[in-house]
Amino acid sequence: MTLLDGKTTAAAIKSEIAEEVRSILETGKRAPHLCAILVGENGASETYVASKSKNCAEVGITSTIVRMHEEVSEVNLLAKINEINLNPEIDGLIVQLPLPKHIDVQKVTAAVAPQKDVDGFHPANAGRMLQNLPCYLPATPFGILLMLEYYKIKTEGLHCVIIGRSNIVGLPMSILMARNASPGNCTVTLCHSKTKNLEDVCRSGDIVIAALGKPHFLKSNMVKDGAVIIDVGITRVPSTKTKSGFALAGDVDFDAVAPRTSYITPVPGGVGLMTIVGLLKNTLRAAKQEVRF
Ligand code: NAP
Repeated sequence: MTLLDGKTTAAAIKSEIAEEVRSILETGKRAPHLCAILVGENGASETYVASKSKNCAEVGITSTIVRMHEEVSEVNLLAKINEINLNPEIDGLIVQLPLPKHIDVQKVTAAVAPQKDVDGFHPANAGRMLQNLPCYLPATPFGILLMLEYYKIKTEGLHCVIIGRSNIVGLPMSILMARNASPGNCTVTLCHSKTKNLEDVCRSGDIVIAALGKPHFLKSNMVKDGAVIIDVGITRVPSTKTKSGFALAGDVDFDAVAPRTSYITPVPGGVGLMTIVGLLKNTLRAAKQEVRF
């Protein structure tokens, strides 16, 4: 079994990004700039945004956080997004989710200019991804592709089982793994809460990507020998072993599953770190205006 180490992989790709940022600066241009809008005071969102800013700083990307009150109106939030869309000093814009209930997430997603949509959530980017056209890929699926590429894992012709069909992880992952590309060229089965015989389906997977948000859901009897296991799940669970009183749990029963696999990602230290790398890469691409709409 080989551990797919997000820390090592992320560090290697981040040093390439830093190198590219340095060469942009050498031409006299400004650094790439990512802006995050944070609405309200959600502890997990604060942590994610702080981590994104820290990672930006590590590679020389400028980052700005725009904080808006929990009760900000949808109109005012959309106006702020439009202002950032028009700001030539900002290359990438993310609106940290979740948003308060009174705000329509789909409206917000569609309001971000596609050329600044470094989360890859805008329908224009999703549509382009479907057609294998240049686009910004959603950061988590993008990060998983980068991980598979880094470890030179051959995916062609394999059966890839994905558990979870969210718009940000499972669904785009299924499209990407089925594409005529590398990584890709898999036969894909996309599973969800209505899937029958899920255990059998998982056992037939050469690659299983678990993205359902149920701690330790994937057990060793659901995995075939030699499978590649990608654990996307991150759930805070109570823990007596940490100072904070909680720990992060993945969707895979790691200790029991790992010995049966060829490759497996840990949680923490796996896909989460790669998601940030996906975002940094997208921001760099946005600064270079690589995707024309
Ligand atoms: P989500 O929007 O809640 O979607 C969960 C999906 O799992 C749904 O499609 C649901 O099916 C399916 N599901 C739930 N219970 C199931 C079951 N018992 N059997 C089969 N399918 C089941 O989740 P998400 O936003 O994709 O996130 C999934 C997990 O990944 C969460 O733990 C999240 O924190 C984590 N995550 C991690 C990263 C990272 O960077 N590592 C990034 C994003 C998300 P239905 O559609 O039928 O309801």
